[in-house]
Amino acid sequence: MQTKNKLLIIVALMLLTLGIATIINVSLNFRDYSINSASEKAEMTANLVKDGLTAHMINGVMDNRAYFLNQISNTKDVKALWIVRSKSVAAQYGEGLHNESVRDTIDEKVLTTGEKFKEIKEQADTILLRVTIPYKATAEVNSPNCLSCHDVKRGDTLGAISMEFDITNMRNSGTFTILKILGINLLFIIIALFLINHYITPYMQFFQNLQDGITKAYSGDFTHEFETSVTGDGKEIVNKINTLFKKMQSTFGDIKYNLGTFIPQGCVSSSDPLYEAKTIIGELSDIYKFKKTIEIDGSKTVVYGRITDVLRTKYNIEHFAFYEVNNITGFRKLIYISTGESICFASVNDDSNLCRAHRTKTDVISTEFVDLCKTCNAEELKYICLPFTINNDHSMILSITAKDLKDINKINSQIPSIKNYLEAAKPVIESRILMDKLRETSLKDAMTGLYNRRFLEEFIDQFMSQAKRSNEIYSILMLDVDYFKKVNDTYGHDVGDKVIVEIGKVIRECIREADLAIRYGGEEFVVLLYNASDEGTFNVAKKIHSAFANLIFEVGNGETMQKTMSIGISKFPTDGDSIWKCIKYADTALYVAKTTGRNKIVAYEAQMSDNSNLR
Ligand code: GH3
Ligand code: MG
Ligand code: MG
Repeated sequence: MQTKNKLLIIVALMLLTLGIATIINVSLNFRDYSINSASEKAEMTANLVKDGLTAHMINGVMDNRAYFLNQISNTKDVKALWIVRSKSVAAQYGEGLHNESVRDTIDEKVLTTGEKFKEIKEQADTILLRVTIPYKATAEVNSPNCLSCHDVKRGDTLGAISMEFDITNMRNSGTFTILKILGINLLFIIIALFLINHYITPYMQFFQNLQDGITKAYSGDFTHEFETSVTGDGKEIVNKINTLFKKMQSTFGDIKYNLGTFIPQGCVSSSDPLYEAKTIIGELSDIYKFKKTIEIDGSKTVVYGRITDVLRTKYNIEHFAFYEVNNITGFRKLIYISTGESICFASVNDDSNLCRAHRTKTDVISTEFVDLCKTCNAEELKYICLPFTINNDHSMILSITAKDLKDINKINSQIPSIKNYLEAAKPVIESRILMDKLRETSLKDAMTGLYNRRFLEEFIDQFMSQAKRSNEIYSILMLDVDYFKKVNDTYGHDVGDKVIVEIGKVIRECIREADLAIRYGGEEFVVLLYNASDEGTFNVAKKIHSAFANLIFEVGNGETMQKTMSIGISKFPTDGDSIWKCIKYADTALYVAKTTGRNKIVAYEAQMSDNSNLR
């Protein structure tokens, strides 16, 4: 219900209650007044009759009293009037006139008790006041001496006068008065309501208008134009509110526009610029913190880890896989997967262009079309795959999965925000990739593509302490071409270089991924075989040895050349507790191979170190 109507009803009820209370009060007072005035009249009449009768008696005209009584009875409002004699008076003077005998029990009672009686008889159309007043024998100086005529004692009841007054008129005039009051009250209520309505309506309209504007403002819309017909202060308030709202609208509009330049459209969609600004600032702050954190992270792997952390903790995404794509080779490498296996066919790893998201450089959302990605292996799952280019050489693919539509729709709404994180991470990943590349170059030998000695010096201690902790073993092969100087001397350095390049290829072909091959210097190589048995180690050494021996080098003029190599073997940590010691022992074994005829493989034995020539 409208406030105005409520107010009007309350005022009407209050006035009505006041009116009813007044009417009840007036009617009660009026009734008392009517009865009291009738009673007084009765009393006066009784005294008049008494005095009249006494006068009749004194003047000896008592027999003519009927006329007197008749005249009194005809007085206005006196409906009936009669007198009765007490037994003692009746005994002395007889029963009196025919209508002077006791008419009812009231007469009898008054004669017996000597006490006045008063009663109101209310009927539907009339109200009667019955009053019966006793006459007592008096003998005082200023009053007639009743005892002189009556055989009674002073104070005895001589008779009584009964009267019935019709006070219906009084009731009627009371009712009329009440109706008048009621009418005046109703008129007053109507006027009061009209005036309240008239003066309050503009204020109520103003409040309603104010409420509408504030409701809109609550949802961020400050365009409401306030208006009022209230003059004076009301008008001034409206003008001030309008100015304030205009300022708010333009301020929040500016904030929204400016924030929009930081965060692309669609990340936060709300009609409330306040909420939008708050959300965007929150988002910007989160992204800023994220960026600051990854900027000081040392490697690409750690940055990738941060992205997966954000996806898991901020967006509560449970199932996703994160890939890095080499745009040049087309290989796709799995960086992180939450659980289970990739939803893509395995072939995508070798040819990333099979990935629809990567190939088309557009977001692939399974709900948009049936069987959208032809290389997706997950029929039951919904998926969103996001491609993301880092630079010419590298891209990323984020593949998010969910079991039901609700989840995937929720994730879909978070995509713009997730992309902000990826965008923030982009320059950092790019610089880490560059750093890795530089590092890789500085740690690799340009001629063979194998690690160089610097790599060995920088990382081997880390590798080996890790190996020790997890009880891993490494076999060390030290390789050196036999009489290599001769090659240079006979065929020139280019041929010598060619031999070195071929050794690199041979070694790479003969070892596994977990093994490490290092160009130790010149035509000397160190190979670290991961967790290889003695037999396995020897087999690899033999494989390299014979593969190299079988190589035929063109040396110009149709001539060819073949070379051999010598290999020394040691085992870490069996032969020595430090890798450098073991490298030294492999070198010792190589020396033994060289000095005992070359073109052979020699495993280190402790007594070799006893030989002072070998130490
Ligand atoms: P040995 O059987 O005792 O090993 O005899 P060797 O002639 O092979 O002797 P050594 O291993 O000491 O020879 C190393 C030579 O390798 C010295 C150097 O001229 C040559 N050399 C080192 N680095 C390169 C390179 O990058 N290219 C070429 N062409 N030759 C290199
Ligand atoms: Mg040599
Ligand atoms: Mg050498």
